[in-house]
Amino acid sequence: MPGTASPLDELLARSHRLGAEKRITNYAGGNTSAKLTIADAVTRAPTRVLAVKGSGGDLGTLTAAGLALLDLGRVLALEAVHARGTHEDELVALYDACRFGSGGAVPSIDTPLHAFVDLDHVDHLHPDAVIAFATATEGDRLVRECYGDAVGWIPWRRPGFELGLQLRDFRRAHPDSRGAVLGGHGLICWGATSDACEATSLELIEAAERFLAARGSAEPFGSRVRGVEPLDTGIRRREAARLAPVVRGLGSTDRPMVAHFTDAPVVLEFLEREHAPRLVALGTSCPDHFLRTKVRPLLFDLLPTVPFAKRVERLRALHAEYRADYADYYARHAGPSSPPMRGCDPAIVLVPGVGMWSFGLDAIEAKVTGEFYVNAINVMRDAESVSTYSPIPEDEKFRIEYWDLEERKLRLKPSPPPLAGRVALVTGAASGIGRAIAERLADEGASVVIADLDGDAAEKVASGLGPERALAVTTDVTSEADVEAAFAAAALRFGGVDLVVNNAGFARSAALVDTTVDDWDRLHAVLARGAFLVSRAAARAMQASAMAGDIVYIVSKNAVVAGPSNIAYAAAKADQAHQVRLLAAELGPHGIRVNGVNPDGVVEGSGIFTSEWREERAAAYGIPPNELGTYYAGRTLLGKEVLPTHVADAVVALTAGGLSRTTGLLVPVDGGVATAFLR
Ligand SMILES: [Zn+2]
Repeated sequence: MPGTASPLDELLARSHRLGAEKRITNYAGGNTSAKLTIADAVTRAPTRVLAVKGSGGDLGTLTAAGLALLDLGRVLALEAVHARGTHEDELVALYDACRFGSGGAVPSIDTPLHAFVDLDHVDHLHPDAVIAFATATEGDRLVRECYGDAVGWIPWRRPGFELGLQLRDFRRAHPDSRGAVLGGHGLICWGATSDACEATSLELIEAAERFLAARGSAEPFGSRVRGVEPLDTGIRRREAARLAPVVRGLGSTDRPMVAHFTDAPVVLEFLEREHAPRLVALGTSCPDHFLRTKVRPLLFDLLPTVPFAKRVERLRALHAEYRADYADYYARHAGPSSPPMRGCDPAIVLVPGVGMWSFGLDAIEAKVTGEFYVNAINVMRDAESVSTYSPIPEDEKFRIEYWDLEERKLRLKPSPPPLAGRVALVTGAASGIGRAIAERLADEGASVVIADLDGDAAEKVASGLGPERALAVTTDVTSEADVEAAFAAAALRFGGVDLVVNNAGFARSAALVDTTVDDWDRLHAVLARGAFLVSRAAARAMQASAMAGDIVYIVSKNAVVAGPSNIAYAAAKADQAHQVRLLAAELGPHGIRVNGVNPDGVVEGSGIFTSEWREERAAAYGIPPNELGTYYAGRTLLGKEVLPTHVADAVVALTAGGLSRTTGLLVPVDGGVATAFLR
């Protein structure tokens, strides 16, 4: 009911509504605040408190814990500290000393923008339509024409204490103002109540959109350029899947990254227009945008009609140029106290006719980076439709990108998990050992392709892991076409793969005289031929990306140990074991390590131990089927049962960096079986 919600609940609800729409603010962009009176926990003295979205976090999902609570009087008192000569960046350290009560989020650098506005409710947002004014050559004139005196124009200044003071002075000079456009950056507005503030935010954004619709020119990006129009959907996707590993490999030169691809109309329409090259070179403007997208993207410049090998060669040359340019940009602007360069790969790669790739340490980050460039495209279109797009100067971008305060924020972030940026494909991943491996790799930060004959079960595993970091593909590993399709799907979704686990398999137990040709052929088709097809596709994909990678075979103790009633299965497993050694020898020069795991006695949760195989083995040992796990454990040196998670542990040990100089190794995960010792 209106009027009964607490001010903090009101603030959170308003933030969620504003953060839910990308046209209002980009993901994790902008912040909201409320000033309220709270009794001090110790003195009971009523205290004016500023509740403002803290550093990091997203408006759409803001929680009470994401709010920074500050004693407003103390924040305002920092002005005197500033007047005595403390630089505004140094004041940030004192925000902590202004916190009210315990807990809450770390106050962000935008805190003074909220503190110094005299009204209780403030929204700072990054709406594309308003950033278009903010980045237009005649932004101040456009703001006046759109809003009259209701909204002011504050020329570009880095967010911080001095911008807060400037807003305070602006409010004093214009007590009737409803907000201000921050040049090069975004929108800030205010209200006496939360509802009034929110209504103003929405009205100002809608007014900008209406203004642009009424006044904007029809073709702000210029006319279409012949030859770079979007390819037909089917051809475009095939082209994207073919290019993706190359693009991801280039974007991963400094460290492995996941690549997100989009061929959304907004991207393709921009790329086919004559002004695209000029605008791409200008780069993004809103600090929130270029902190994610880097100062500018890499734009490809050859037509899709040029032969593929030539295009790849050109892409590599452009990437080398990009890295050199970025290093120059750093060298041009860095001072003695600048943080070290963070790597010079592009965060965005644009290929006219095909689409856009964006990079991140995981699939969500990669996708969000791309969304930021779509925001930038919208900004450029709108700015060009009424004026000329003119982002903040490069030295200012550098100051933000390598700002001490941003650097501190980055250092506070937890270090990424060991498989961050990696993309894994696991065969037979819908159940048993394969599923345990896929889930474990995802836990360690990898994006994972769940390949399985049972597509529905694969979907279930993928959706359990979250659609953002897992992809299900129906794959019969004995089918060359299926395997190619699985790798193409992985390329389109994550940019390729660099960690492949050959796990798909099944088992049959029969004496030689009872083994059918069909059993022999099927076991060899799945285990030997299937692993060969998957490894071949993996090696091709990894070589196209020029990225180092891992291939892991889930083999078996039976590849080593000879026993009765196992001819077809164990011979096919021995084939896999030798594939490990052969491919380790062949693929080492490409930086591809090939290793294997020899599990044994995995009964619980194992897909192989279908009731049939379990009964066959139990009968062979003369025990009841439900005692098979304990029976196997009893035969081991450690006396412990082996579970699918133990096999997954071995895969992580082999691939997550701990054994980076090891290839051609088979790791027993069998509880200790002396006859299976390798020599
Ligand atoms: Zn901002």
